[in-house]
Amino acid sequence: MDENQTCDVIVIGAGPAGMMAAGQAALAGARVILLEKMDSPGKKLSITGKKRCNLTNTADLPMFIDHFSPNGRFLRQAFGRFFRDDLLEFFETINIHTETERGGRIFPSNGDAAFVTDHLSQWASEAGARITLRSPVARLIVKNGYINAVETRGKQTIPTKAAILCTGGATFTDTGSTGDGYRMAQAVGHSLAPLRPALVPLKTAGSTAQRLQGLSLHNIRFSVFFDQKKVIDAFGEMLFTHFGISGPVVLTHSGEIVDALRAGKHVSVSIDLKPALDENKLDARLLRELDQGGKQHIRTMLKHLLPAKMIAVCADQTDIPLDRPCHQVTAQDRRRLLTWLKDLRLEVTASLPLEAGMVTMGGVALKEVNPRTMMSKVVNGLFFAGEVLDLAADTGGFNLQAAFSTGWLAGRQAASFTLK
Ligand SMILES: Cc1cc2nc3c(=O)[nH]c(=O)nc-3n(C[C@H](O)[C@H](O)[C@H](O)COP(=O)(O)OP(=O)(O)OC[C@H]3O[C@@H](n4cnc5c(N)ncnc54)[C@H](O)[C@@H]3O)c2cc1C
Repeated sequence: MDENQTCDVIVIGAGPAGMMAAGQAALAGARVILLEKMDSPGKKLSITGKKRCNLTNTADLPMFIDHFSPNGRFLRQAFGRFFRDDLLEFFETINIHTETERGGRIFPSNGDAAFVTDHLSQWASEAGARITLRSPVARLIVKNGYINAVETRGKQTIPTKAAILCTGGATFTDTGSTGDGYRMAQAVGHSLAPLRPALVPLKTAGSTAQRLQGLSLHNIRFSVFFDQKKVIDAFGEMLFTHFGISGPVVLTHSGEIVDALRAGKHVSVSIDLKPALDENKLDARLLRELDQGGKQHIRTMLKHLLPAKMIAVCADQTDIPLDRPCHQVTAQDRRRLLTWLKDLRLEVTASLPLEAGMVTMGGVALKEVNPRTMMSKVVNGLFFAGEVLDLAADTGGFNLQAAFSTGWLAGRQAASFTLK
């Protein structure tokens, strides 16, 4: 990198927020340098949506904001300026066509996240931003309350009138998002909301999950209890792993669970394997099947009711030997079986660490950032965009839309700040 280069805006981090911010600032007339520490831009973007990149969602504005609960209101201004339809129109102009799937999730038609990354970085560069790879930023330099320069880890100082911090969260760290931005923001006077993982798998007590590892359950009812009080009641898909539970319905609610565990609450989950049947209907079905089973072992009957992997676990936990003939199953046995099918309980002991979450909850405190401009209220000329802010949503394309919308706004505003 040329040490004497001058510029108006330095964007730190070439993820979706940084590339959008850099391109927009350049289009608005600013001289822009985009510094990325990795050897290619958008490493995380390229693995999003199982490498298919769930770009955004068809949800309306209030629902979108709801997905970022409790901090979604902060995004109202950014979404007001650049929302989903603007994003889709933007993608069309750079030859990324999109398709809508189940749950309103919008993906590139070719289902290729790396293609999105390539086109976005090419667009930012053609817009005039100079993308410099392998350039980790170490420090923001502030003078008299204004951003003055940034210092790279190689001790190069690059003077600038504005900087946009787009360093992302602190999860999936081998993509480059190692939480540097949090430390840099803190060092110039910003406070942080505590960092914790969201969209993260959970550890459970006992051996149930381990015995069922690899098993996916579809169409189950998933309820969560904090200190024995039911607080979440959801339907969906989940997965058992060697340490606990994961899968869409678990990940979606993991943020709330992480916060409850941090608050010292006892957390348990209940899995209803037969949500379409209430207890009376399920009991009638069990009675019928046991009756028809006659001298057959209960193992045979359970094969109609459960995935193969669950049969031995069910027998152990209900205390019904698998070689018991159906006609010898007692009313108490049947009651225990019914309870197990409707309320398979697991105690949640912890989440996997921050690094393993898909997004970071917490980050640069929103009260210190102007939502109309994304500019810091602590340092003039310092802007923020993307996951470095205290914003996190569940799955569905919401997080990327927030990165693009805040990146768009920060880029435009940083340019006008420097060109005033
Ligand atoms: C496996 C996975 C799948 C996901 N799938 C989806 C999905 O389908 N849809 C969705 O909406 N969201 C998804 N997310 C979340 C989404 O990827 C993030 O919210 C989004 O990438 C945040 O964008 P960002 O630009 O703020 O940060 P990032 O994408 O994290 O980019 C930050 C960039 O800053 C760089 N950087 C960091 N520190 C420095 C430094 N000191 N100097 C220079 N550069 C630095 C990093 O190398 C990185 O390139 C997924 C996340 C994961 C982990």
